[in-house]
Amino acid sequence: MSASSNPLRNLPAVDTLLNHPVLTAAQREHRRALLTDAARETLAAIRADVLAGGAAVPPLDAIAEKTVARLRRMVSPTLHPVINATGVVIHTNLGRSLLSARAQKAMVEVAQAYNNLEFDVPTGKRGSRYHHAEALLCRLTGAEAAVVVNNNAAALVLSLSALAGEKEVLINRSQLIEIGGRFRIPDIMAQSGAMLVEVGTTNRTYIDDFENNLHTVNTGLIMQVHRSNFALIGFTTEPTLAELVDLGERYGVPVMYDLGSGTLLDTAQFGLAHEPTMQESVAAGAAIVTASGDKLLGGPQAGIILGRADLIARIKKHPLTRAFRVDKMTLAALQATLLAYLEGTAVDEIPTWQMIALDRRTLNRRAQKWRRTLAGAGIPAEVVDAQSAVGGGSLPGQTLPTRAVRIAVPDAAQMAARLRSADVPVITRLEDGAIWLDPRTVLPAQDSALVATMIESFR
Ligand SMILES: *Cc1c(COP(=O)(O)O)cnc(C)c1O
Repeated sequence: MSASSNPLRNLPAVDTLLNHPVLTAAQREHRRALLTDAARETLAAIRADVLAGGAAVPPLDAIAEKTVARLRRMVSPTLHPVINATGVVIHTNLGRSLLSARAQKAMVEVAQAYNNLEFDVPTGKRGSRYHHAEALLCRLTGAEAAVVVNNNAAALVLSLSALAGEKEVLINRSQLIEIGGRFRIPDIMAQSGAMLVEVGTTNRTYIDDFENNLHTVNTGLIMQVHRSNFALIGFTTEPTLAELVDLGERYGVPVMYDLGSGTLLDTAQFGLAHEPTMQESVAAGAAIVTASGDKLLGGPQAGIILGRADLIARIKKHPLTRAFRVDKMTLAALQATLLAYLEGTAVDEIPTWQMIALDRRTLNRRAQKWRRTLAGAGIPAEVVDAQSAVGGGSLPGQTLPTRAVRIAVPDAAQMAARLRSADVPVITRLEDGAIWLDPRTVLPAQDSALVATMIESFR
């Protein structure tokens, strides 16, 4: 290859780039080593582009600007707020439940000062971190005992390991669900050392199917999994939790119920189907109930295990409890969240419920306000009836009527990408070639940022 045909001949040396005035100025703000990394990485990216047959080497000024942009990205957090205009309240990819002001405050307080996480103040002796959630959970659900771990998946692995390791666990074939991200109940079961025994058929399973597979010595648990992210309809039947509990009691085998959503409130009061609550499941006699902290409970990521005192005691002694243990921030947020339920202020305080409870008039008012501002900037928007989703693996197929702003644009996917590239990315719903903005999940404090980003992106 002759020198003149080498497409990389204009690529500057790292030192040349670092001596560019834009980068010498940046040295006042950033460590030299970081600047050098940014310069090297920028040059490597350009080299790769050029060799891939794409662009020519940009001018030095442009390379310097690219380097500074890369530097800014390097020193910016990758985890940051976004505006959720999708209308999916419990959006797993967007962080699930937001925390109440009380929970936020509690987290900051334990983060800022030493605290009694594992210290019994009256006696001056070692205490248990689980104490901070257990009494409240028991009072709210009627459970004898409780323990909290990092998430519901951990709660399942731990409960199965501690209570059914090496033993058989009976489960209805139609409940072998994937909980998301390719994590599946059979894999979780395998991890715990428990042996899966599928009973019944995909659509119809009877109590006899359980009884016929029950071997008192070998059967560790009967497991019921709430179908939280899909619905089974048509020619179907399955035993109720109460029937399974009754069977289990006759054979001395405990029933474990993976509830998923972990709601303490009746979702029917918001016009949704009734989602089984934690307290109902305890009352129905489930010996172990597991649930997430950040779904319909509206708290931090956590796995809640409720149950019979003897079983919870076995779980607490299992080594995995230590491996899955929650930190002080989680416990602080969870305790604050549970206190709101105890005081009866959950719907007023907890963002997940606040959003679910929003009425059509309020949603319409906000949508109309956005529409007017957008129209004022020449963006043709309309306010239409739409559906929000609860999401987060709860209430599959159930929606909440809402009022959304719909903006028809020639290339909606490209516009959605522009909205996502804003400083505070706006995440929208794309449907029938239009952008949809649902006010239900947009925090009122984000309204002006949302509208400003829309106007900027449509320019
Ligand atoms: C969501 C869900 C899980 C997983 O809970 P994480 O808290 O995400 O680990 C397990 N089982 C059911 C039924 C669920 O709905």
